[in-house]
Amino acid sequence: MAVIISTEKCIGCGTCVDVCPFGAIYMKDGKAYIDEKCTQCGACIDACPVQAIYREEGSKPETPAKVDYKNILVYIEQTDGQVKNVGYELLGEGRKLSDTLGQKLTAVVIGDQISHLAQDIIAGGADEVYVVESPLFKNYNTDGYTTAICEIVEQTKPYGMLLGATTDGRDLAPRVAARLKTGLCADCTGLAIDEESKLILWTRPALGGNIMATIVCPENYPQMGTVRPNVFKRPELDKNRTGEIISFASSVQESDIRTKLLELLPVANETCKIEEAQVICAGGRGLCSPDNFKLLDELAELLGGAVAASRAVVDAGWISALQQVGQTGKTVGPKIYFAFGISGAIQHLAGMSSSDIIIAINKDPDAPIFKVADYGIVGDVQEVLPALIREFKNR
Ligand SMILES: Cc1cc2nc3c(=O)[nH]c(=O)nc-3n(C[C@H](O)[C@H](O)[C@H](O)COP(=O)(O)OP(=O)(O)OC[C@H]3O[C@@H](n4cnc5c(N)ncnc54)[C@H](O)[C@@H]3O)c2cc1C
Repeated sequence: MAVIISTEKCIGCGTCVDVCPFGAIYMKDGKAYIDEKCTQCGACIDACPVQAIYREEGSKPETPAKVDYKNILVYIEQTDGQVKNVGYELLGEGRKLSDTLGQKLTAVVIGDQISHLAQDIIAGGADEVYVVESPLFKNYNTDGYTTAICEIVEQTKPYGMLLGATTDGRDLAPRVAARLKTGLCADCTGLAIDEESKLILWTRPALGGNIMATIVCPENYPQMGTVRPNVFKRPELDKNRTGEIISFASSVQESDIRTKLLELLPVANETCKIEEAQVICAGGRGLCSPDNFKLLDELAELLGGAVAASRAVVDAGWISALQQVGQTGKTVGPKIYFAFGISGAIQHLAGMSSSDIIIAINKDPDAPIFKVADYGIVGDVQEVLPALIREFKNR
């Protein structure tokens, strides 16, 4: 229901301006006014000391007409001029959804000097690609990217929209959904179209990973969801595919971007990049000491891989949360996943069970990790790990 400020009652104290999380209230001639950024959250209503702000009686948000919305839009994330893997994974799933609906697959890519990516995005399955280029988009920023995507959505009215559940995607998707006044299903691991209603069925783990919940967004469009990286297989690129490349001029100005990037500080080296790694050496509490992560670093370097961890050791402060695999960490899908001293709790498996080959090293022969492992070594990691390093060095 729309939020209204009574100019008669408003005393111009500015409290509502301070509490509005969306910067949607401004002062003019000693009175407060609400602009289109309002999400109707109601924070200003609770804060107003003179009850000058209220919800419009009986007003119901308008439900957009389903017929006006068509095609699936995929947000393609790129860094340093390279499409992230998850972008291709989304194109693969988006293609299936749009084919089932008999609609087009559209993609949007945002950045600076990134037009060379459009052809690969078409090769990944898109029928048309919106390219939004500006030095303002060189690095990800919430304000600029949100506005650019909303402008494209307003122009193209997509039926469904997919984003990666990455650090940036998890920041961007809720902003876009709130601005478009639609729903968002986060961290999906399964997508389908309901045969009867043609709604998108968004499936994701719920209740600590014990059940899979399937969610629909029946009244608002676009139907939006974020999808975990490495859950879906990336499609083969078809370089012969053709599609339309549309250069989109966004209205975003420098003054629209409220955050200023002062400096980029690398916090991760190559062995921390677990989402894109082909080999992962993961350690759990069975490593016995944080120092033993040095051995994992050594093994990962030898194999050109990355180092990951269970939540138990992240919580213990042995390693950065950036490297946590699992339900509340990252989902990975390497060719080889080594699990050193990891018990195999369901929440950990949720993040790595789609690995091609799982090799578990655990001193307990009944550890649940062996149920999902392709190869297992029953032994003490403090003996097995140095032995593996020696062996790989010799080869
Ligand atoms: C809501 C929720 C979300 C969660 N999210 C995550 C998540 O995202 N990721 C995650 O990992 N966990 C998550 N957890 C925690 C999860 O339930 C487990 O507690 C955690 O994964 C256990 O970590 P671990 O296997 O390292 O430790 P433990 O369960 O303590 O297992 C240690 C293993 O090492 C073996 N071991 C011990 N010493 C040695 C040795 N010397 N040599 C060889 N093996 C040895 C033991 O036999 C044991 O199997 C979550 C829990 C909840 C409730």
